[in-house]
Amino acid sequence: MRWDGLILAKFGLNQISAVIDVAKPNSKLPSRTIDVSCAKCHTALFKYAKGGKGALVKCFKQRIVSDFTHDSGICPKCATPFARETLIRGAPAYKIIGGKVVSK
Ligand SMILES: [Zn+2]
Repeated sequence: MRWDGLILAKFGLNQISAVIDVAKPNSKLPSRTIDVSCAKCHTALFKYAKGGKGALVKCFKQRIVSDFTHDSGICPKCATPFARETLIRGAPAYKIIGGKVVSK
């Protein structure tokens, strides 16, 4: 029983719950989903699982939960280009053109 006590002391309860969280389905996606819309006509463009804080400057394609666009980086309603396709650390992504989208 001394061993159990050692593990608890070393990792603590918070870290044990974190390990349990990782085991849940969809744990690869950040928990927060934002709606990304065209800044000009407010048409929905993506639902995006965003990690971290701050303004949306890039979107990893693997984190786009729903994609409402027909052409890459083009608003389906007003045809404004809002993003350019790029690779970030080898992963396909969109680089958002400044001021072309709103997210909430
Ligand atoms: Zn638009």
